Amino acid sequence: MEGYSKEQLEEFERWRQQRHKRIEVADVAGPVRVAPAKMEETPRFEPATWPVPRHELSKNLAKYVGLALDMGAVDAKIVNTKDIPQDLRAYYVGCVIPSCRWLNSNANCPTVRTFSFEHMKKFISEYDLAVAYKVLPPKIEEVPDVGPIQLDMYYTMGGAPAPDKAMLARNIIRLRILLEMARRIRAEAYYDGYLMAAPLTSGPCLVAKCADIRRCPAIEKGGHCRFVDVQPNASGCAYVNFYALGKKLGWGELQVGGNCAFPEDTPDPASYYNIGLVLID
Ligand code: SF4
Repeated sequence: MEGYSKEQLEEFERWRQQRHKRIEVADVAGPVRVAPAKMEETPRFEPATWPVPRHELSKNLAKYVGLALDMGAVDAKIVNTKDIPQDLRAYYVGCVIPSCRWLNSNANCPTVRTFSFEHMKKFISEYDLAVAYKVLPPKIEEVPDVGPIQLDMYYTMGGAPAPDKAMLARNIIRLRILLEMARRIRAEAYYDGYLMAAPLTSGPCLVAKCADIRRCPAIEKGGHCRFVDVQPNASGCAYVNFYALGKKLGWGELQVGGNCAFPEDTPDPASYYNIGLVLID
């Protein structure tokens, strides 16, 4: 690439390889980090021209599919957004009927965060292409350290016994890996010039990111979110019918409870999987 020193090009390549590394449990374990990355830890991206020449689209999409697989997805596909099933029932069945344990617990889940069905149909229809990827829960031998977990009240308030901390720790890791995968694909696309690239993730960010404080500061008066890499829940907020999407992509039956369920809450955890989705252009 003209105009860049050998060192700069080497640094771009070093960070590209870093992004394409498999996301291991250790990469997302430990207490959640709230502070922004230091300068020297901030990834560098090879600059791209904008708008992106149309003829580069298929090469770039193939690269994002490759990135999803490099990070640990078991399959990844380019999807025409017309094939992303949106269904008003995804909100009701996904979050409200019956009510999800995490309903109203954070600013990225209903009913705190809702958009109209028409609005979200329009939003996704503004894109032509997306990348979808299938992710299996990470194999975790020992209970990972994820920092303090203070989520008992979301179980005990309903009279249930306190939850198994090991189960929560495994799900915190699983959800953080899904968020990190979406973040990296979106970042790669953004710096390739797809400035409107948007990740559609699932699962309660309260569990992934705020288990240490058991509450969501963003839903408190004058409060705001502690993070810049979380987004509204795709099932409840974007009405994405992941059951239908999984079938359409040939990935098999999605578990009861859908993309937000915890494997431990499903009848057959062995066939559990998650779907990641990033709208590209
Ligand atoms: S503060 Fe935590 S729980 Fe609230 S929206 Fe942000 S990540 Fe989610």
